[in-house]
Amino acid sequence: MAGVSGPRIPWRLHAVLPRSAANGPGTRYVIWSQGCALGCPGCFNPETHAAGGADVRTVGDVAADVLADAAHLDGVTLTGGEPLEQPAAAGAFCAEVKARSELGVIVLTGFTRREIEADPARAAAVADADLVIAGRYNERLRVARGLRGSSNKEYWMRTERYGPDDLAAVPELEVTITGGTVTFTGMAAPEREFGMGGRF
Ligand code: SF4
Repeated sequence: MAGVSGPRIPWRLHAVLPRSAANGPGTRYVIWSQGCALGCPGCFNPETHAAGGADVRTVGDVAADVLADAAHLDGVTLTGGEPLEQPAAAGAFCAEVKARSELGVIVLTGFTRREIEADPARAAAVADADLVIAGRYNERLRVARGLRGSSNKEYWMRTERYGPDDLAAVPELEVTITGGTVTFTGMAAPEREFGMGGRF
């Protein structure tokens, strides 16, 4: 973003979940970005598609929350919505987390690896990710496990931090009850009226 860099970059978010066991290996801080124009048929997160209606925060604000709890976390997961529709924010956040902690970073995106590598901004956004799970959700190829909503999605291992066994061990469903609000997350989460389906 021209004129704004690093922690001051605004970031449109749909929601965050400070502790999750179903959005990647170990205990993770999960961030759902707001906005996605990719339009996969059967998407379980249509409420994340509009660019408006977001909770707008700064990268530094979100990173501070994550880093304050880093001792109790194994990593962070960026999902959506489409994280790479805000590449400057996603990239700055990943860089901040990697520079200041040992947390692992996973990015779930609807863009394919080829689309990411062909676009400098998207490529920069995942430069500090350990794992990118890339590609459109295809409802005809639904698997809903191993952090993939459908079998066409590619595991792009950018480091050796995570392997197939780590991903296979991720629970497919998680139920969180906070102040009377019930939220289902994970690849096998039920329909969207219950909350953040995360069916990437
Ligand atoms: S599955 Fe992901 S990439 Fe596809 S429309 Fe839904 S939010 Fe966008």
